[in-house]
Amino acid sequence: MNWIKNFLKPKIKSLFKKKSSELEESLWITCVDCKALIMKDEFKDNLFVCPKCNSHRAKVEPRDRFSMFFDNNHYEILDPPIALNDDPLNFKAKKNYKDQLKEARRKTNQSDSILVAHGKLEGMKVTCAAMSFSFIGGSLSINSGHAFVEGAAYAIKNKTPFIVFSASGGARMQESLLALSQMTRTTLAVSELKRNNIPYIVVLTHPTSGGVTASFASLGDISIGEPGATVGFAGARVIKDTVRETLPKSFQETEWHLEHSGMIDMVVERKYLRSTIIKLLQILLKKKETQAISDSGDVDNEINTKTFKNQSA
Ligand SMILES: [Zn+2]
Repeated sequence: MNWIKNFLKPKIKSLFKKKSSELEESLWITCVDCKALIMKDEFKDNLFVCPKCNSHRAKVEPRDRFSMFFDNNHYEILDPPIALNDDPLNFKAKKNYKDQLKEARRKTNQSDSILVAHGKLEGMKVTCAAMSFSFIGGSLSINSGHAFVEGAAYAIKNKTPFIVFSASGGARMQESLLALSQMTRTTLAVSELKRNNIPYIVVLTHPTSGGVTASFASLGDISIGEPGATVGFAGARVIKDTVRETLPKSFQETEWHLEHSGMIDMVVERKYLRSTIIKLLQILLKKKETQAISDSGDVDNEINTKTFKNQSA
């Protein structure tokens, strides 16, 4: 009965093996930095931060961002209509762009890389945009540019602060110049926010690079970085090959920017992010006296020491 031994038995074994590994995959994730295995529920409860090494570099999807950010996990998605032709160049490479879009939409349940929502933050009405790195590397496209502009327009119309969580590899090459032109569109939208005195806060998360860093992500009234997030225009390897110098180990990480580049005003751990933004908005909206920030408390100390450090650098 060789066929039982050689064919049927391995087949049965592989069936069981597949099921158990799928089960493991559905229950555990691996930390991108320390490689520790973490229960998904524990990871979510810890705000998608590694409980072992405090890494903030795992992908966080926009809906998860919104759940952590808005009061009582209550928010409404603003879903602007997508362009009639979202593959204007009929781009074909290894994969057809149309198929990539279809796959990304299925995977993320979003129409493009930027998702906009509005809701309340400590009772204040706010508009918030978050980027999904899972959507073609969080790249900036016609539709995501449109979502950003619509979000800014909503914030202006409803006089709410606009908060953006960036995570992107840059402009989407499949849309070429049309994607690059979104840098101008989003920059103009930020100018409109400023012209209307709408507070605009950017939280730079891992990784933020290319055309997104070179446009709306660098234009916040206040720029907050998450710990260890890589933020830059060109990647470290390209810079190293160009300048032919050894770069510091933490080059382009948010802590490095805080010390050296002036691009970031403060680095804030995710567990303090919500309370920090609440305090900043209360100050920006003049709802509280500036004195409130010097009150004792972890978050306040965090703001004071890091901001002071940046000014004295
Ligand atoms: Zn870790």
